[in-house]
Amino acid sequence: MDAEPRGRASSDGRSEPAATRVAVVGGGVAGLVAALAARRLGATVVLLEPHPLGGRARTDRRGGFTFNRGPRALYRGGRAEVVLRELGVDVARGGAPIVRGALAITTEGTHRLPVGPLASIATDLFGTREKLGAARHLLPLLRDPGPIAPDRSLAAWLDERGTGGRVRAFLEAMVRVATYTDAPHELSAHDALTQARRAATSGVRYLDGGFGSIVASLLSSATEAGISVRPVAARAVGHEGGGWRIATSDGPIDADAVVLATGGPTAAARLIGEAPPSWSRLGPPARAACLELGVARVPSHRFALGIDRPTYLSVHAPPAELAPAGHAVVHVMRYRRTGDDLAPEASRRELLDVARLAGVAPDDILEQRYLDAMEVTGAIPTAANGGVAGRPSVAVAHQRGLFVAGDWVGPEGQLLDAAVASAHTAGRQAAARAGTMATA
Ligand SMILES: Cc1cc2nc3c(=O)[nH]c(=O)nc-3n(C[C@H](O)[C@H](O)[C@H](O)COP(=O)(O)OP(=O)(O)OC[C@H]3O[C@@H](n4cnc5c(N)ncnc54)[C@H](O)[C@@H]3O)c2cc1C
Repeated sequence: MDAEPRGRASSDGRSEPAATRVAVVGGGVAGLVAALAARRLGATVVLLEPHPLGGRARTDRRGGFTFNRGPRALYRGGRAEVVLRELGVDVARGGAPIVRGALAITTEGTHRLPVGPLASIATDLFGTREKLGAARHLLPLLRDPGPIAPDRSLAAWLDERGTGGRVRAFLEAMVRVATYTDAPHELSAHDALTQARRAATSGVRYLDGGFGSIVASLLSSATEAGISVRPVAARAVGHEGGGWRIATSDGPIDADAVVLATGGPTAAARLIGEAPPSWSRLGPPARAACLELGVARVPSHRFALGIDRPTYLSVHAPPAELAPAGHAVVHVMRYRRTGDDLAPEASRRELLDVARLAGVAPDDILEQRYLDAMEVTGAIPTAANGGVAGRPSVAVAHQRGLFVAGDWVGPEGQLLDAAVASAHTAGRQAAARAGTMATA
């Protein structure tokens, strides 16, 4: 810690214990990062979370397997990796996905997934004529194609370039994997391609112990730093004097600055009563159906991507430590686009089918869990809203001392990168605001 929290002088000059200066609502990764960032600047911090800490980054144990509540990959070189490392989280333990022998799945059957040099030529996913132009059309996955206006959708941009057929379907599938979003007509092309390029060039890491290892490490730092974690839910947040009062199930909590890290814009808006108008322009959340399998042997194909169906499969363990030796954790997923009403049982069967194509024998499945319509991100960066640049800033407009953090906030990154980047900024700004209040 670089500074101790200050006490506040009472009216008769005696020093009284410091009031809670920064309150953080929500104990997911964003809340924990915001709390630590504020504490590091010397603020006294209380964090409110009625559930076990971690939010969507919680990891569960099932019969010797570690399940992440859907696939979780840390984007290498992204803001999450940088900030978490700075906060003392070991983000280096784990491994990269193994894409050798990866499959592309179409309604016709399975093909070799075109990954690596000359892959477009070797695959039977593309026809002979398609192969000729494939490299040019797929180059934006590897190299910056130059400026693209943030309000141009991925679909519109691909139309302009004349990218069609299987090559287009493959590129859209690569964007789905990187953004967890199946919405080419809504997603900003600039953001979609930036994220896909980051995944393809810098790579991702599956963490030993899953995202739960991030949560455990942040919690241990929070406890050591003296952050008070209270197992209560916030019910409302409103002005009180020059600061803020949070109504909770356990009575009111006063704070000079508040960070709302409640997961998505809807939960944050509910707490403050009226959302700023800019929040209504946010894109819809991205959702996914997830099947997690603990299996007795590593399947023959460790990665598979639906090309004309929005499905994904990846063996997360090995490389990451999430399963007993010789066993594997396989994540299978369907990116659910807005209006996707495939019933949970049909979706689960579809995902089991993908697992079978990758070589998972039904008898090898020792543990399984199906999670339908998990919210992957609070608001997708749409072209209509100017992409990530159009997301709300951490400081809530016209509400001094009120901040938001999450994967729908701030101009930086997507998914956990956005959650951590906005949380770090929000925590620091909240501490600065509380410092101003303390000296006023
Ligand atoms: C299936 C799936 C796959 C994903 N894969 C990846 C991936 O591979 N890579 C990546 O970078 N990201 C991925 N993500 C996204 C990443 O997990 C999230 O961006 C990140 O965990 C969000 O953290 P958060 O703290 O902002 O929100 P959350 O984790 O949602 O935390 C919000 C917390 O606020 C609490 N809360 C809400 N209301 C209140 C209240 N009134 N009072 C007190 N507490 C409250 C909730 O209980 C919750 O614990 C994935 C997400 C999902 C669902």
